[in-house]
Amino acid sequence: MIELDDSKVTCVFSQEVPPALFVDSGTTVRIRTRDCFSNQLQKPENTMDSLDWDATNPATGPIYVRGAVAGGALKVKIESIDLDGQIACCTGEAEGVCGDLFKGWSTGIRKIQDGKVIWGRGVELPLAPMIGVIGVAPAAGLSINCGTPGTHGGNMDCTQIGPGATVYFPVEMDGAMFSCGDMHAVMGDGEIGVSGAEVAGWPTVTLTAMPGLKLNHPLLETDTEFGVIVSATSLDAAADEAVHELVRIITARVDIPADELVMLLSLCADVRVCQMVDPLKTVRFMAPKYVLDALGFVL
Ligand code: CA
Ligand code: ZN
Repeated sequence: MIELDDSKVTCVFSQEVPPALFVDSGTTVRIRTRDCFSNQLQKPENTMDSLDWDATNPATGPIYVRGAVAGGALKVKIESIDLDGQIACCTGEAEGVCGDLFKGWSTGIRKIQDGKVIWGRGVELPLAPMIGVIGVAPAAGLSINCGTPGTHGGNMDCTQIGPGATVYFPVEMDGAMFSCGDMHAVMGDGEIGVSGAEVAGWPTVTLTAMPGLKLNHPLLETDTEFGVIVSATSLDAAADEAVHELVRIITARVDIPADELVMLLSLCADVRVCQMVDPLKTVRFMAPKYVLDALGFVL
């Protein structure tokens, strides 16, 4: 296994960012990631107005994966996540869903102990580690800041991108140029306050080129579910496209009429919000794998 420290981070996804590391397809990499504030919030007195915003949402990398080609896909298996011992969270004026309630900003700092975030007031939240910012270089000419999600991935803030999950990204340039950061110890779907339990740490991922797989959006596979992650200007638009895209993917591979498939997915697949607080909103549409397996679906 290769280890990559956080001396090379990027705050944009772009084909112009030089590689921090070259690996062969199939390599497992243990990656040091900063938290989304670039570790600037260490005490409750450190508030969002004191942040160097240019340093927020750093992603470690990018990693050039040999064998990944433009027009293909990159498969990223999240093998494990190790977290540091302290989280930061925040909300405030004009931030998140409740930004209208506040003047100024608030920071929460909490410890992680025995697999839980110790909130106080008797509240202890079990860890559900996830990677918020994860993706590859977008199309040529684009430079997308790491706070914004898109077809390249980026700040999708999907609670299911955790240990055991696999994410597939559309590749726009040879090498794919994978990076990740912004881990959360735990987060609610929607991320309504504008942050999760932001934490630095070590995700371990296996990066595999899939040159023959053409994608329009990131795909997500867990032990039990398979689906599509879409970011758009509204939750409605993201959900609409996620549903349509999964229907397109399945009907391209399984001999089933679209009307029957839509009736079936309406009974068993879930539209879920990833996040609703970033410049684009992110939704996933997840179908149970036992259903897709029965249909003979193979990616
Ligand atoms: Ca995030
Ligand atoms: Zn975050």
